[in-house]
Amino acid sequence: MILAVLLTGAFMNYELSKMYGGHTQLAQLKLEDKTPSYFALTNVNVLTPSADKFISDQTVLVDQGTILSVGANVEFADDTPTIDGQGMFLVPGYTDSHVHLWESENDLLLYVANGVTQIREMNGSKAHLRWKAQIQAGRLGPDMFVVAPQLATFGFFEGLFVGWTQNKVIVRTETQVNKAVQSLKDDGYDAVKSSSFLDKDSYTALSNAAANISIPLVGHIPMAVGSEEFLNSNQIELAHVEELMKALNREFGEYTSRNADSFLEFVRSRSDDVADRLLQEKKSVTSTLWLIDSFSRQKTNLGEVLRISELSYANPGITEGTVITSRGMGWLPDVNIYRWPDNLEEARRQRSIVYWKTYAEAQHIVFESLLKKGVPIMAGTDANVPVTVPGFSLHDEMITLNKAGMSPSQVLASVSSVPSKWMQTNTGEIRANFKANLVLLRDNPLEDIQATNSIEMVIVNGRILSRTDLDSILLAVQNANDASRTVQLEYE
Ligand SMILES: [Zn+2]
Repeated sequence: MILAVLLTGAFMNYELSKMYGGHTQLAQLKLEDKTPSYFALTNVNVLTPSADKFISDQTVLVDQGTILSVGANVEFADDTPTIDGQGMFLVPGYTDSHVHLWESENDLLLYVANGVTQIREMNGSKAHLRWKAQIQAGRLGPDMFVVAPQLATFGFFEGLFVGWTQNKVIVRTETQVNKAVQSLKDDGYDAVKSSSFLDKDSYTALSNAAANISIPLVGHIPMAVGSEEFLNSNQIELAHVEELMKALNREFGEYTSRNADSFLEFVRSRSDDVADRLLQEKKSVTSTLWLIDSFSRQKTNLGEVLRISELSYANPGITEGTVITSRGMGWLPDVNIYRWPDNLEEARRQRSIVYWKTYAEAQHIVFESLLKKGVPIMAGTDANVPVTVPGFSLHDEMITLNKAGMSPSQVLASVSSVPSKWMQTNTGEIRANFKANLVLLRDNPLEDIQATNSIEMVIVNGRILSRTDLDSILLAVQNANDASRTVQLEYE
């Protein structure tokens, strides 16, 4: 009996780790490290710190990964290695403010290859803290802000299961909350996170503990907590625009397909107030618009969505899911949590279409109010939630933000200066004494936001990666994935 329990436990741990991407081969990189520690980027168009325009013919002098100076007449010795940026556009490295690495180390490379030089991990683990330290010590990867595993309230037995399988910290009393927050801070996490499944007293305790121990509190609005309690809490950030829409939905009394129009009317009547209050209480919001917009497409037309997502780069363990939590978090049709069952009856299908269309529309109404009122918005993608491919997804998010009403300049700020200020890192702006995490583009992203993808070079933590390097990184990840997948994909 004991042996059976131990074997089942070991099997489940194996399956979980596989699902979280921990069994995928590590990409084998063959990059020559020829980066000079001191160099000048010349003749380049440089994005201003306010991200509103490019200044032409600039020189950016970099020493050991830090910007020494920026300007038209920067002097440097004749033998200084130079990179000619003629006709190109220099922007700060991008930040994705909502990602999930799980156990997928190759994702670190996907970020860098897509110009993402800073990420905020929203459900951190000890492994992530290790990777963060390794990157600081020279490993190739983005700078990391690691949010602790989220706090949640569950009964004893369910809590054991959820805590084990989903990397959550289970709390039921104020004492447990205080102890958890202190120990997460001692572990080195940069923030603590509230989940949807926290009871009201535990949320109050968490809000107090975060302020007492001085660690930022971020995440969801628990379902048991009203908007006012959230607004008056010490939580300084919402992990999704969706959270506000869900809070309004609870206030409305949970809409259905039958009263979808009155719900949207209600959201329209309340969203400006909500935005005003967020601004007043100095709270920031992370976007994740692309993902929520994709729900209805994943439900109705998953095949098409999978074809457009850069599936071959995503960790096969994560996309294939696992038998033990079937339809838990995989991406492919058999395991995709969002996809409708094939036998769904037509009437329910029609109701569901209305429901999810409304869901996305309500989120956009809230987003427009946040934008209009000037609430700080950080671009985030929830990478690794089906079907958001790490690194690539931030470019989809930028296009979505632009379509949702942000100017290209606002979009660029939402992936650079806004999150960097929030995380208090000296990145996200091209100016002296800031970190030289930079992306060199062939096209002007202020004219067309899709140009954020026209990447010619990425400079991250003192390393210079040419387009050739970036392509070989992507190929190495694809090869490692192909060697590890059990469901073969067809792609070109
Ligand atoms: Zn998330």
